Amino acid sequence: MDDKKSVTGVHGCPGADDIKNPKPSYIPCPKCGGDVEVWSDGEQTVCDECGGTVTQEGALACLEWCEKAEECVGGEKYRKYLEQNKK
Ligand SMILES: [Zn+2]
Ligand SMILES: [Zn+2]
Repeated sequence: MDDKKSVTGVHGCPGADDIKNPKPSYIPCPKCGGDVEVWSDGEQTVCDECGGTVTQEGALACLEWCEKAEECVGGEKYRKYLEQNKK
């Protein structure tokens, strides 16, 4: 009787793991085209070359639509996300 019950009690979206355990990757700076190291948790990064702000697109996709984003990635990360995205 416990077939579809939540796996380990923790809700997790695809991508949520990348936010909880950020990994670095390189993307081209939209301004100067230089390689910029960005982290999969969506932290904004400043380009060494031109000083422009670079954010990995789609990194926080889970948080955009997930009702349980706070559970998915943890309250701390979630609040950081809200901080970064408020105007
Ligand atoms: Zn989620
Ligand atoms: Zn740049």
